[in-house]
Amino acid sequence: MKYIENYINGEFCAPASGEYLDNIEPATGNVYSKIPESDKSDLEQAVQAAEKAFPKWSAMSTEDRSRLMHKLADAVEAAGDQLAKAEAIDNGKPVAFAKAVDSYRASANIRFFANACTQFSSESHNMGETGVNYTLRDPIGVVGTISPWNFPLYLFTWKVAPALASGNTVVAKPSEVTPMTAYLFSKICHDVGIPKGVINILHGSGPNIGQLLVEHKKIKAISFTGGTATGKKLAATAAPMFKKLSLELGGKNPTLVFADCDFDRTVNEVVRSAFSNQGQICLCGSRIYIERSIYDKFKHAFIEKVKQLKIGDPLEKATQHGALVSKPHMKKVLSYVELAQQEGGTVLTGGKQVTLDGRCEYGFFVEPTVIEGLTLNCRTNQEEIFGPVCTIQPFDSDEEALSLANGTDYGLATSIWSNNLTRCHSLAKQLDFGIVWINSWLLRDLRTPFGGMKSSGVGREGGEEAMRFFTEPKNVCIKY
Ligand code: NAP
Repeated sequence: MKYIENYINGEFCAPASGEYLDNIEPATGNVYSKIPESDKSDLEQAVQAAEKAFPKWSAMSTEDRSRLMHKLADAVEAAGDQLAKAEAIDNGKPVAFAKAVDSYRASANIRFFANACTQFSSESHNMGETGVNYTLRDPIGVVGTISPWNFPLYLFTWKVAPALASGNTVVAKPSEVTPMTAYLFSKICHDVGIPKGVINILHGSGPNIGQLLVEHKKIKAISFTGGTATGKKLAATAAPMFKKLSLELGGKNPTLVFADCDFDRTVNEVVRSAFSNQGQICLCGSRIYIERSIYDKFKHAFIEKVKQLKIGDPLEKATQHGALVSKPHMKKVLSYVELAQQEGGTVLTGGKQVTLDGRCEYGFFVEPTVIEGLTLNCRTNQEEIFGPVCTIQPFDSDEEALSLANGTDYGLATSIWSNNLTRCHSLAKQLDFGIVWINSWLLRDLRTPFGGMKSSGVGREGGEEAMRFFTEPKNVCIKY
C-alpha cells in the first residue's frame, strides 16, 4: 500500500495526527493508496515554512525565477507518461486523454507562467505638468490554492504556477479524491530544487484541511476551483477577513446548434463537448439546443456517435470513456437520470451503470446518456450533474436559443455552431457566459481571461488576470 506524504518546508512528512484516508481507484473500486488527513498543526508548519521562504523567493530576480520554473516545466513534461498513468488510475479517465490533456496542460501551465512573469508589467498614469503615478504590483505573500478532482494536476498547476511566478509562496490543497499527481509533483519540485518552503502541499479532506486553510489569518489570498456550494462556504468564511478570493465554480453549459452548421464536424464536436472526461469538465456542454429543421437528423447522427464511444479500462489506450471518479459521484449521476425520467424525460441512449469484465468488474462506469423531452425549468436542466448526461431540445429562432441558453443561474461557457458569423457575433454579445466558443469547444489560449459569470464564479484566471490576482497593486504618486 502506497502512503502519500505531505510536502512541507522541502520535506516529505506524515500527517501530525497519524490519520490517513483511503484513496480508491475508480476503475476497480479498490483502495490502492492512503492519503494524509492533515490538520491544524500540519497547516501551521506549512504556513510558517511559506512565510520564511517568502522574502527570498519574492526578491529573486524575475529571470532566475523564470529559469527555475522552466526547469520545473521540463521535468513535468519529461514525466508526462508517468503522470498520465497516475491520473488515469487515480481519476478513472482514459490514459490517452490524460496524456493529451492533463499531462500536456500541467507542463504547459508552468511554462506559460514561467514566460508570463518576464513579460508582466504595471501601469503608469501621467498627470501632465502636475505629476505622475506608477503602479507597483508586488506579490501578496503566503497564498492558498484549493483544486478539484476532475483535472487534478492540470488545475493544481493552473493556480500554483501563476502564484509562484508572481513571487508568492504557496500552501496548496489538492482534492482528497485525486491526490496522487500532486504528490508526484511535490517529488518533481523537490528534484528540480524549488527552494524549501516555496511550495507546500497538504493533503486531506475539504471540510477539514481545506476549511482551515481558508480560515488561516496569514494566508492572504485563496484561489479556488470547485463546486458552487463549496464556493459559497468559502466566500462566507473569507469575506469577513477581507481575503482576496478567486472562485472558479460550476457550470450548466448550453450548446447551440444551428441548421447552417458544418453538420458532420458539429456532430463530432458536440459529442466531444458533452462526454469528454466522462462529462466531468466544468465546460462540458450538457444542454444541447438544436434548430428544429435539423433536430431529427442531428439527434440520430448524434446518438449513433455517442453509442460508438468505447467504454473500458482507463489504462487501455483505445478507451474513450472511462470510470466516474467515485462511487458517491456515480450514484449522484445515476440519481439524475432517474430524476430526468420522473420529470418526463426519455432516455434515448445510455442511462445505466456498466459492468465490465476482468479487473474493472467493480468500477464506477456509467454509459454516455442522452435525454430528450424536458423543458428548461426542470431540475435536470437547471442543476449541474457533472457526469456523462446531456439533454437535447429543439428551438425555433435565435431569440429562443438565446433565452434557453441564458436561462439558468450558471454562466461559465457556451458554444455556438453556425456558419452565419453575424448571428454568432450577435449571440456572443448577448450570452451571459464567461467563455463563448464559436464553431469550437475547449480551444484554449492561456492568455485569455478564464472564468464564469453568475453562480459560476468570481474573478478570472489565465494570463494577466492570474498575475494580477496574485499581486497587490500599489499606486505611487509623485508631484513634480
Ligand atoms: P468541491 O467538492 O467543491 O471540491 C473542490 C475542492 O474544495 C476540493 O479540493 C475539496 O476537497 C475542497 N473543499 C471541499 N469543501 C471545502 C471547504 N469547506 N473549504 C475548503 N475547501 C473545501 O468540487 P469537486 O467535486 O472537487 O469538483 C467538481 C466541481 O468543480 C464542479 O462543480 C465543477 O463544475 C467545478 N469545476 C469548476 C471549474 C472552473 O474552472 N470553473 C473547473 C473544474 C471544476 P475534497 O475533494 O478533499 O473534499
